[in-house]
Amino acid sequence: MFLGIDIGGTNIKGLLTDKSGKILSFKEIETPGSAKEIDDAILNLMENLATSVSVSKIDIEAIGIGAAGTVDRTKGQVITSPNIPSWKNYPLAKNIEKKTGIKVFIENDVTVACAGGWWQGNGSKFKNWIMIALGTGIGGGVIIDNKIYTGQTGSSMEIGHMTIDINGPRCSCGSRGCLEQYASASALVKYVEENIAKYKNSSLHEHIADKPLTAKIIHDHAIDKDELAIEAMTQISRYLGLGVANLINIFNPEAVILGGGLSLAHKFIIPIVKDVVKEHALKGVKEKVKYLPIKDQSKIPPLGAARIAMDRYNFEKKS
Ligand SMILES: [Zn+2]
Repeated sequence: MFLGIDIGGTNIKGLLTDKSGKILSFKEIETPGSAKEIDDAILNLMENLATSVSVSKIDIEAIGIGAAGTVDRTKGQVITSPNIPSWKNYPLAKNIEKKTGIKVFIENDVTVACAGGWWQGNGSKFKNWIMIALGTGIGGGVIIDNKIYTGQTGSSMEIGHMTIDINGPRCSCGSRGCLEQYASASALVKYVEENIAKYKNSSLHEHIADKPLTAKIIHDHAIDKDELAIEAMTQISRYLGLGVANLINIFNPEAVILGGGLSLAHKFIIPIVKDVVKEHALKGVKEKVKYLPIKDQSKIPPLGAARIAMDRYNFEKKS
């Protein structure tokens, strides 16, 4: 039995699974503020998941954790995380290992989503595919010849920092004009804030003054046909399309799977992305690509974390 955990800026999702991928128990909680509180929340979650199916913690062979941020998988550390600032070279895996006596493996959150999609999700139908996680930032994952490719240190597919405008604004990464400055949930909100003065009749005015504007609100207003909301959604989808066209030229994938919070707007985003890909990607590469939203956004990433833990644990046992 394996425990899979996916830690995002807003929620922590955890589940227990057997080696066939059958989910034995699942629970979702809010992400607390500090690193120490997150450690405690993981331990509580584990207790909860185990007792709800009356199993003993001893039966858990390994724990896999997907963390939003850059991770060092050999040291079991989170190096930095845009959503959880108290994680700085934080020994997350060691802390949990010490308290549970169970082996812990950590990975980037998009990598675990990709692993889940490959194992039990809609990516399992394809041998070569890309995952694009659309949230506050933009992350990516790639499956090549039915294997997850993670690069030298586990930091491949940082597609949010692909430059798409050399003269663009400075990004938090130090570069300029990165994709996530144009096509993420934050970019969507920024577009509305910067342009709302030009749209006197926009229904989004009521959300600007005293309530925080979110990507979800903008998407809801786009569905209700607000002109500015539609314009903003179209703008970010076109930029995303450019990023996807570049990726399609590089990887020649069978499918592009959208994950992350903003993927809930896939009905709006995908048709525009397809049009831009048609304009910009190469002939002979772009035609047969399928575009899908991730299946079961809440369970697939922790399942992937459990699968990564299972594979590494079995590999270490053998070697
Ligand atoms: Zn950047």
